Amino acid sequence: MANRVIVAGGGASGLAAAIFAAENGAKVTILEHKDRVGKKLLMTGNGRCNLTNMSDIRGKFYSSDADSLHKIYDTLVRFDAIKTRQFFKGLGLYTKEKRDGGVYPVSEQAAVVLDVLRSACDRLGVRIRTDCEITAIHPNQTEGAVSVTQSVYGDKEQNKRGRKSGVVSEKRETIKYDRLILATGGKAASVSGSDGSGYELVKRLGHRMIEPLPALVQLRCEGSFFKALSGVRAQCRIRLLTDGREMASEEGELQLTDYGISGIPVFQLSRLASRALYDGKQCEAGIDFLPYIEDNDDQVFGKGIEMFSYKTVEELLSGLVHKKIAAVVCRQNGIGLGATVGQTGVEKVSDCIRMLTDFRVRITAPNSFENAQVCCGGVPLGEVNENFASRKFPNIYIIGELLDCDGVCGGYNLQWAWATGAIAGRDAALQMSGQ
Ligand SMILES: Cc1cc2nc3c(=O)[nH]c(=O)nc-3n(C[C@H](O)[C@H](O)[C@H](O)COP(=O)(O)OP(=O)(O)OC[C@H]3O[C@@H](n4cnc5c(N)ncnc54)[C@H](O)[C@@H]3O)c2cc1C
Repeated sequence: MANRVIVAGGGASGLAAAIFAAENGAKVTILEHKDRVGKKLLMTGNGRCNLTNMSDIRGKFYSSDADSLHKIYDTLVRFDAIKTRQFFKGLGLYTKEKRDGGVYPVSEQAAVVLDVLRSACDRLGVRIRTDCEITAIHPNQTEGAVSVTQSVYGDKEQNKRGRKSGVVSEKRETIKYDRLILATGGKAASVSGSDGSGYELVKRLGHRMIEPLPALVQLRCEGSFFKALSGVRAQCRIRLLTDGREMASEEGELQLTDYGISGIPVFQLSRLASRALYDGKQCEAGIDFLPYIEDNDDQVFGKGIEMFSYKTVEELLSGLVHKKIAAVVCRQNGIGLGATVGQTGVEKVSDCIRMLTDFRVRITAPNSFENAQVCCGGVPLGEVNENFASRKFPNIYIIGELLDCDGVCGGYNLQWAWATGAIAGRDAALQMSGQ
């Protein structure tokens, strides 16, 4: 008899798990608490969906358990970026690779990624039940069950057009499973459905939880000057320092906002900053606004400055960085905007230039979960096996962002979702019921 597989959560990992379980003969039901599956997928890659990355995955993922992460890399080889592209090609979706290895659908539309996943579910007879909240899990080593509350909305005509006029009734029931796959995501961008309720479900199963924190997110910083810098973009190298020690650095386009720093290099550093702040450490960013100027460029860093003694300091700095940054650095060094290089003196001007190479800002907090692309933290990797089955309940799988593993920007988080979904889905279908 086919295994009855329930997939809790119809996001990227849940849809992949459902398809792989159904392809391997299971009778699959997805329980999704939103009114449709895959809402977050539509938001990915600014609506273009960076669905994987062809670069080497080693070093692209983080977890609080380095040993388990190391082993997970070996598992992930079983479903790598090439397999992801083959999987989508098999569903009729062609993909293209960009220069950084990022892979997108050729149409660059996230909606088509969701369309092919949904159509595969239809073809394979996967039952999708939406507006269905999982409220409890009743685990059992053989046949378990989940309690669900399904909301029924009024006004069918409005419903057809996608609008809801309020819950008119709630249907409660208990559904049995041979295998349960938990794919409820984290709590980043909860508007898409991942509201953290899955964390509570796994905690009630007795799993530990590494505190989920926002990752791939903007960083809030101290400094009244940020208001003046808002909207400025600059190519920079950014170092992250915790308690004065350099943790990591990234290069790329920095975006300055009225509350702090954003942009890809900031996103890449953000999960380390989030965790360090959570652990009570002091966090700073050291911004090098001049990463492309050689240290031995005398006109910038040496005596050559003297030849510009007729310019205002702000004018001189504006030859190197955005005018607004130049003005802030002058102000920070007590230099009036009309003061010339000659009046200010080479030494003080050099201080300003040095500040441009290591502009220190204190990071006070990550932006909220709502602004984050993913969460770091979740169920420790050591609590699942190589097929992502729980070590407490072998017939329950934990996949996707619910696990304590998060990737850097560039398609790695979706790759994690597809890989964990594919591996767990196949295993859930093929393991004999009752084992
Ligand atoms: C704005 C944005 C852009 C992004 N862009 C990219 C990108 O281009 N490339 C990339 O690799 N990654 C990207 N990501 C990250 C990526 O979307 C996630 O890593 C991925 O979606 C996680 O998949 P998941 O299946 O674990 O969780 P999710 O996709 O969040 O799915 C979880 C599902 O479970 C449902 N659910 C939750 N709780 C319950 C419950 N109690 N009962 C029933 N259902 C429940 C939710 O409604 C949701 O449908 C982006 C994220 C955001 C927010």
